[in-house]
Amino acid sequence: MIVTLKKGIKKKEIAVLSEKIKALGCRPYVVKGKDVTIIGVIGEYAKKHKEVFETMDMVEHISEIQKPYKLASREFKKENTVIKINKNVEIGGKRIHVIAGPCAIESEDLMIRTAKMVKDAGATVIRGGAFKPRSSPYAFQGLGEKGLKYIKESGKKLCMPTVSEAMTIEQVNLLSKYCDIIQIGARNIQNYDLLKAAGEQKKPVLLKRGLATTVKELLLSAEYILSRGNSNVMLCERGIRTFEDSTRFTMDLNAIPVLKKLTHLPLILDPSHGIGIREHIGAMAKACVAVGADGLIIEVHPRPEEALSDGPQSLFPSQFKILMEELNLIAKAVDRELLA
Ligand code: PEP
Ligand code: MN
Repeated sequence: MIVTLKKGIKKKEIAVLSEKIKALGCRPYVVKGKDVTIIGVIGEYAKKHKEVFETMDMVEHISEIQKPYKLASREFKKENTVIKINKNVEIGGKRIHVIAGPCAIESEDLMIRTAKMVKDAGATVIRGGAFKPRSSPYAFQGLGEKGLKYIKESGKKLCMPTVSEAMTIEQVNLLSKYCDIIQIGARNIQNYDLLKAAGEQKKPVLLKRGLATTVKELLLSAEYILSRGNSNVMLCERGIRTFEDSTRFTMDLNAIPVLKKLTHLPLILDPSHGIGIREHIGAMAKACVAVGADGLIIEVHPRPEEALSDGPQSLFPSQFKILMEELNLIAKAVDRELLA
């Protein structure tokens, strides 16, 4: 249920109303717009209390959200959500931000060198996994907390925000100390306790669509995070599994205009995992920009042939640099910005 407040309502009054919503066993979710403030009343039995709000002086009007996901829907919030990571990075605005780095953090030196290279090419956020969800238990599983120290150090040195993946609740809490953005990977999108934990901490979340997750399920997973109080969720299309086996996954570009209509949350596209073949990443990255991405996440490695994870889809730094220039042209053609 959305409660729209009358213009000029004071902070104190909003606080009182929020307490009242909690006393009814629901959760308040306040969105202050330019002109109006709305409060999402979230909870299984929110509808039951409609009359309580109808009689309040400060309430302009009440509406119900028809979609099963509430806070994630455009019905709830019409304007695009812009997530401020630091002074220079705002995801969801006019500028398309590129997140880049190795699949896995392999050493401090590799992390810093890669971060430098991608920054030189125009990337604004660095990526690197410390806890890796590998198909084989014998494959490199990541450096764990040591890796997080390396990515944090790289971010500090280069003044760039960082993103890394958490696979467990403990890792969510650990990552919130080391990184600026917490990634929930494709394989964990329906790990609801993990989503709740991500919603209960303050760092922005990059939520990756699962291999067999529908758009509706993706939005419901985002809703788990939002409904726990974390409004900074970015959705990531990273390819789904179809009958096609000539590529690693099938990038569902259809989902982008569909999601843009259904949700206000920023959309990050991952052509690296989406197609999984180095020589085709560039073509797909361009398509991602053209179709409406708010950001891209791209794997880059100084020596992809020696990478401990996802080498075949990692770009050489020289390739990445050229690609960024090309993406910049596409961005301009769709009235966006990419390079500063
Ligand atoms: C990754 O980003 O390296 C990763 C494992 O992603 P996904 O969860 O999309 O497979
Ligand atoms: Mn990877």
